[in-house]
Amino acid sequence: MKIGALEAGGTKMVCAVGDETGKIFERISIPTEMPEITVPRLIEYFKDKEIDALGIGCFGPIDLNRSSETYGYITTTPKLAWRYFNMVGAFKEALHGLPVGFDTDVNGSALGEATWGITKGLENSIYITIGTGVGMGIISNGRVLHGMLHPEAGHLILKKHPSDVYEGKCPYHKTCLEGLAAGPAIEARWGKKGIELADKKEVWELEAYYIGQALADLILVLSPQRIVLGGGVMHQEQLLPLVKDEVKKQLNGYIETKEMEHLDDYIVLPSLNDNQGILGAIRLALDEMERG
Ligand code: ADP
Ligand code: ZN
Repeated sequence: MKIGALEAGGTKMVCAVGDETGKIFERISIPTEMPEITVPRLIEYFKDKEIDALGIGCFGPIDLNRSSETYGYITTTPKLAWRYFNMVGAFKEALHGLPVGFDTDVNGSALGEATWGITKGLENSIYITIGTGVGMGIISNGRVLHGMLHPEAGHLILKKHPSDVYEGKCPYHKTCLEGLAAGPAIEARWGKKGIELADKKEVWELEAYYIGQALADLILVLSPQRIVLGGGVMHQEQLLPLVKDEVKKQLNGYIETKEMEHLDDYIVLPSLNDNQGILGAIRLALDEMERG
């Protein structure tokens, strides 16, 4: 079988062809411009590849409600050119009705890890990406969790650290996880990019305080069996151990499970060498084929 995979991001589009075992045969990356420019280039890539299905992990928010008139659309994105763009429809039309699986980029990554990576075999897991924004994909009872929309847990509203005078970057909530802990918030608070602050202990302690707080809440609500932390900010190697300490501190012994005793296996980095998004898109395509 040949499966098309598209990781549709705000800055670049990664297109690949792989198969049902998670093998990736080829890939290209093109910049994200206006849909009128970018989508024809994507279609051009996929149209002669003889793929059996296409999966798309897409920046959001997107409409995942199959009974909605705008199912498969990108909806209220701040990227105005893409607002209410019919993603699924554009590819279905150009690829002659091929099955097109569709979900958020981070749900795709969560599925990629759950199918071929570090959360394989677990019914309940969370994948979080901490980069330009914060995204979360939740696998619950073996399926990606959707709802009236899809979870937007990157915007969990947090308690500020008493010593933090930064007001928060999110235009909607200011002090949500994304507003306090995504890459741009770090840069705005400290006046330098995260990568230039590697030796500043206080930066990563505060970062861990916010990520740890969010994880504690997620553990209480969703009881995941493992949590994967990805995204550019997690490239700071000193951060992960600080996050684990903070989770322990904030839960204060309340949850007693073997997972909580072995946090090194419980709160982990991604395992698929940055292929989790593309692999997740393959899984989305396979699931769509199965639906028929
Ligand atoms: P995106 O979220 O745009 O897909 P990334 O996950 O790479 O991309 O996130 C980019 C953000 O992460 C930027 O704000 C950047 O400053 C920050 N970042 C990237 N690499 C590092 C690093 N090694 N250390 C700290 N912050 C980083
Ligand atoms: Zn927010």
